[in-house]
Amino acid sequence: MTARVLVVDDVPANVKLLQARLSAEYFDVITAMSGDEALAICERAKCDIVLLDVMMPDMDGFEVCRRFKAGPTTHHIPVVMVTALDQPSDRVKGLQAGADDFLTKPVSEIALIARVRSLARLKVMTDELRMRALASRDIGVTGGEREALTEAGRNGHILLVDDRPLSYEHMAAILAGEHSVDIEADPNAALFRAADGNYDLLIVSLALVDFDGLRLCSQVRSLARTRNTPILAIADADENARLVRGLEIGVNDYLFRPIDKNEILARVRTQIRKKRYTERLRDSVQTSIELAITDALTGLHNRRYMETHIAGLVEQALSRGQPLAVLVLDIDHFKLVNDTHGHDTGDEVLREFALRVRKAIRGIDLACRYGGEEFVVVMPETDLAAATAVAERLRQRIASEPFPIQQGAQGIDVTISIGIAALGGNDDAASVIKRADQALYRAKRNGRNRVVPDAA
Ligand code: GH3
Ligand code: MG
Ligand code: MG
Repeated sequence: MTARVLVVDDVPANVKLLQARLSAEYFDVITAMSGDEALAICERAKCDIVLLDVMMPDMDGFEVCRRFKAGPTTHHIPVVMVTALDQPSDRVKGLQAGADDFLTKPVSEIALIARVRSLARLKVMTDELRMRALASRDIGVTGGEREALTEAGRNGHILLVDDRPLSYEHMAAILAGEHSVDIEADPNAALFRAADGNYDLLIVSLALVDFDGLRLCSQVRSLARTRNTPILAIADADENARLVRGLEIGVNDYLFRPIDKNEILARVRTQIRKKRYTERLRDSVQTSIELAITDALTGLHNRRYMETHIAGLVEQALSRGQPLAVLVLDIDHFKLVNDTHGHDTGDEVLREFALRVRKAIRGIDLACRYGGEEFVVVMPETDLAAATAVAERLRQRIASEPFPIQQGAQGIDVTISIGIAALGGNDDAASVIKRADQALYRAKRNGRNRVVPDAA
């Protein structure tokens, strides 16, 4: 990921040092020597993360941060305050000014890279959500992205895995103010608990007695249920090497003991925000995929989806020498339903019809709404005789059970006609559908409410 990082510090040597380290990790680095310069740069140029020194002569880092967070074009850019180690009060001030994270001087290499990476990922997601929020506003849809952008990362559901009572009680007390925290003191039980609990965040102590905390982290990453759950590792000061290993296997962020209250709160919020953004994005991708392949009225696949998938099914059947059947179904005198009871009732009938089709077929069958009141079902591994039996059963169910209309207040009789064709050696998708359609035409001509297999 190449994020652009703005390094703001009035001491040239500090700027150079951070610049060199970030460039070595392929971040794109720009620099500013004062708050004014930094704000001016961000007004004009795209910038993904700001590393902000607290102590600067004209305008201190807190004021610069406040201005960043108040500016309409800059408020969403993550700001990392670079504070002096012996000034814990700076962290509180930084948080109050809206800072997203902290680094302490002298800045350690892994801390720098971990923080910047973590926030760069968050920024990528924020940008995506902002873009979609704009797009959905343009097309008059509220996709929920805008609400997501106000996500503060609070009220999280957290599992804390730590076997030292003093340690977990301390952390739980801090976090309880804005999250709900479960404690798991038995690392052997932690994975199951994590998989069952639908947590927003796992906090894992790496210094567990008789248990490798990193192993738990890697198990969490490989389990489908927990793969996307962020992990915050808690390490002792001498555990640098293990921490690097942890970040490699997918630990998202870490804290050193002794735990600083503001630091843990800030990191936890960042991880939870990120998790919620990811979910939101995944949901909306999922939704737009579903919208693109689903018929809105009936919930069946749409014609476009069927047309892209039938080719693969046909090819597979031919290459494996397996049968495949296609049903084309059409509601009889459907125009009359509309004319007699109104278009809304027609829609009710279409929905109920789709439901009955779905109940009559198997999971591997592909059902779609082909056009107005015409449907197609593709049945892999099914020959003409079996398909005819399915179609006949469905026809009977439609004809014998009246369709509830006006929310069940009334029932009307509906019948369907079905044409069937089985895939032949010379067929492709289009030709087999065409033959089924011709069979349907014969079913209509012969009096409707009947199933006609293709004679060929
Ligand atoms: P046939 O037995 O020959 O199939 O007669 P039919 O009346 O069913 O066939 P026709 O093709 O003449 O009419 C189909 C009707 O389906 C006309 C159209 O208004 C209606 N229709 C198409 N799509 C929808 C829809 O989404 N909702 C409703 N309510 N009606 C629809
Ligand atoms: Mg019809
Ligand atoms: Mg029709």
